[in-house]
Amino acid sequence: MTVMTQAPARPQSGSTFESLNPATGEVVGTHPVQTAEEVQAAVARAREEAAWWGGLSFGERKTHLNAWKTSMTQRLPELAELMRLEMGKPVGDAMLEAGLAMEHVSWAAGHAGRVLGRRRVSPGLMMVNQSASVAFKPLGVVGVIGPWNYPVFTPLGSVAYALAAGNAVVFKPSEHTPGVGAWMVQAFQDAVGRPVLQLVTGLGATGAALCRAGVDKVAFTGSTATGKKVMAACAETLTPVVIEAGGKDSVIVDADADVEAAADAALWGACSNAGQTCIGVERVYVHEKVYDEFLSTITAKAAVLRADRDGKIGPITMPSQVGVIRSHVQDALDHGGRAVVGGIDAVGERFVQPTILVDVPEDSLAVQEETFGPTMTIAKVRTMDEAIEKTNATRYGLGNTVFSKVNGMAIAERVRSGMSAVNGVISFAGIPSLPFGGVGDSGFGRIHGPEGLKEFTYAKAIARQRFKPMINLTSFDRTAKADKQLAQVIGLLHGRAKKR
Ligand code: NDP
Repeated sequence: MTVMTQAPARPQSGSTFESLNPATGEVVGTHPVQTAEEVQAAVARAREEAAWWGGLSFGERKTHLNAWKTSMTQRLPELAELMRLEMGKPVGDAMLEAGLAMEHVSWAAGHAGRVLGRRRVSPGLMMVNQSASVAFKPLGVVGVIGPWNYPVFTPLGSVAYALAAGNAVVFKPSEHTPGVGAWMVQAFQDAVGRPVLQLVTGLGATGAALCRAGVDKVAFTGSTATGKKVMAACAETLTPVVIEAGGKDSVIVDADADVEAAADAALWGACSNAGQTCIGVERVYVHEKVYDEFLSTITAKAAVLRADRDGKIGPITMPSQVGVIRSHVQDALDHGGRAVVGGIDAVGERFVQPTILVDVPEDSLAVQEETFGPTMTIAKVRTMDEAIEKTNATRYGLGNTVFSKVNGMAIAERVRSGMSAVNGVISFAGIPSLPFGGVGDSGFGRIHGPEGLKEFTYAKAIARQRFKPMINLTSFDRTAKADKQLAQVIGLLHGRAKKR
């Protein structure tokens, strides 16, 4: 890996590409652009490893996964610095992200046996002579296509759960954060000594090749548009997919909310990670009774927040994203919106300053489309019904936050999203036992929690006869008398047939 030489843009020779520091444009590292053949070779190697890994007990895999976790944890500052260099986030935020990811590795490793191991289920009265059980078996090789915005936490949400379930994994990190991906895969190799977790690097075409390389499932995190391409490629071979796509999450603030806490959470949810968070806050709906208080509190907090090289907000990772953010802010202003903090001049070349927009029409880009910058719209609502209706009026349905002392749970239940936080923000992502994922254009399938373990398995049902049945139903020797007895049993269990 080459470290820190000057380069103007993302250079790419035929077989390598460079990851760049988004704050400065300096080269952080050089990585291979892997071809379809190389991706297939990685999948073939992973398949050999899957035979060994899938044959281990849950306890043995737990030992290996915990060794991997320890090897990463012991060098967390090194990982955090690499995250800062490639992605731009402050080191403190990188440590938080990596620390939360370790929680997930630990949970997945520790709970896989209980969640996926064989367990008895009731056979029902009709089949009382059977012993019924179900277990969840690894699929084989899982392809993970990761994003750059949380280059440790997000891919590990799939990688760790797929591994804990007994699969080998081929991981394609984003072209913006290949060094972070390579670091985690090397740490696995160092800790486990076998290439159960393989790395492939490159641009979008390498990800597309992974979809077609014969993996047993693809876990994708990124934009909805690319998610559709991934799904189309996977459809060619009936390869199942998990899609964790974009969001347009709201914060709903009720009349009885702790306004100070709600403003603090909304600002952090919108601006941390420079707003490049799938479950980041992009919209806020505030009850009219506390709207003025909320707006003055959040604008005062936002006014002292700066995005710069040493600030609490880093640069925009993808240069092309700056144009998207600018277009959303401009569209809002063109349609009657006002910037009470920031505005169009806040959108710089690499850094975007916090921007708060009010009076923005609900059908504008800044309310409907994923902005992925440190911006938010704030709207006044008369009732919580109105807030819920507006929250639910986008194509997305990933996360959401509710601030209310009395009705938090009731409001959260009515929001069409995979996850909600009540009187906190993004809290659900840090709880490993909770499933993570969305509905609508936010994707489908779940990572994290028991659902996230099962996502990378298939259910294997077994019915074992314990003793011969009173009436043998599955035989051509079945008699008319047996049919009559069967009719009586069905009548007893489910109600008698009506007499004609
Ligand atoms: P993409 O959806 O384009 O990329 C996500 C991942 O998919 C990357 O690893 C990328 O590789 C890979 N990829 C790209 N094209 C293909 C393909 N045809 N087949 C398979 N894999 C592919 O996101 P971007 O990084 O370009 O970001 C664009 C927008 O997506 C952002 O502005 C944001 O709105 C949204 N986004 C949302 C995220 C979320 O967490 N919800 C995360 C990231 C982005 P490579 O990077 O090498 O091109």
